[in-house]
Amino acid sequence: LGSARVTRIDTAAVRVVGPCLIVRVWAGDVYGVGECYPSGPVRAVDAAVRGLTELVVGEDPRDVHRLYEKMRRWQIFNGGQAGTIVTAISGIELALWDLAGKLLGAPVYQLLGGAFRTEVRLYADCNAGTVDAAGHHTSALPDPATPDGRAAFARVAATARDRGFTALKFDVDDVYGALRRDEWNRSLSRAQIDRMVGQVSAIREAVGDQMDLAIDMHARFDVPSAIRAARALEPFDLMWLEEPVPPENLAALAEVRRATSVPICAGENLYTRFEFLDLFKAGAVDCVMPDVAKFGGLGEGRRVADLAELHYLPFAPHNVSGPVGTVAAAHLCAAVSNFTVLEYHAMDLDFFEGLVRYAGGPVVRDGYVHLSDAPGFGLELNEDALRAVEHTRSGIGVFAPDR
Ligand SMILES: [Mg+2]
Repeated sequence: LGSARVTRIDTAAVRVVGPCLIVRVWAGDVYGVGECYPSGPVRAVDAAVRGLTELVVGEDPRDVHRLYEKMRRWQIFNGGQAGTIVTAISGIELALWDLAGKLLGAPVYQLLGGAFRTEVRLYADCNAGTVDAAGHHTSALPDPATPDGRAAFARVAATARDRGFTALKFDVDDVYGALRRDEWNRSLSRAQIDRMVGQVSAIREAVGDQMDLAIDMHARFDVPSAIRAARALEPFDLMWLEEPVPPENLAALAEVRRATSVPICAGENLYTRFEFLDLFKAGAVDCVMPDVAKFGGLGEGRRVADLAELHYLPFAPHNVSGPVGTVAAAHLCAAVSNFTVLEYHAMDLDFFEGLVRYAGGPVVRDGYVHLSDAPGFGLELNEDALRAVEHTRSGIGVFAPDR
């Protein structure tokens, strides 16, 4: 087999969808690249990656599952069940897969057991309709009660359709909207539910029946409000309703699920296979969406996909990563039977493609990630482009040599 040892890890902090950490794991002069979920305290994630480095240096990078378990179990007494530590482990785990693939001369989806498909279908996240066709976030949410507002939602949906996407997701929780009466309670007014119905009807009217449509509530509402809103959205035949209630109480989510015919999707705020085991035990979902760059990595994603398959449930990963995390997730999606659709959250980021050179062509083409036979993830980093979006405030730099 020959020998291969991890020699060092370096990192880059960049702004893509949010402030994210790119992780490179080196074995001599070969590296694998991973990405940590782009939200929250990037300096804390970076410090956690550096703290974990000593657990993998000197190890064989091809032992990905063993090194994941080593990092995870070594941190059980330090909050390693969820949060920043697991996000840091996820970025290293992704990089280990890429490195193992490069060392073995095989694409990662083959290391994961081979492909059910080599074209991975994406859905376009359209935020709350606040990304316009020119690619800029607008400050005010469109009002679906007005013709201009309905046209604004329709324009965003049509932009995604014209780029080849066959599935969309919109936010309806209107966090800063004028209809919100109280900053802290989780209750929805009749007017707020009417606004949701107006928004979804405008989008459905614009895209027709051939487009799959998911709606995200960002874990904001109480159980009775979530049930009222879900029932009001039943006529639109949604692909799923996402996180109608907060993530901590799975029995509450199960109660919403039992009260509506709308399929319920959750999981972007859960960590590791163990929290997903609880989700399945609670009977709380019709679809799962772990975020591999956040919740544990590709091996853990494979385990959750298999858990979902045992319940005959679809697997549709959450993804707000840059091109590295997106391609990494696509390799997993290729390798599990019950995959349906992967999130793409960079509709408005025209620099997204330039951050890497991808063996499969553009990372996103006609609404899909097209996998290639190139070793690892098939990615090369464009360091000049990464430097152009450096997260300077963190002081982490872009693979700074002396850290
Ligand atoms: Mg969500």
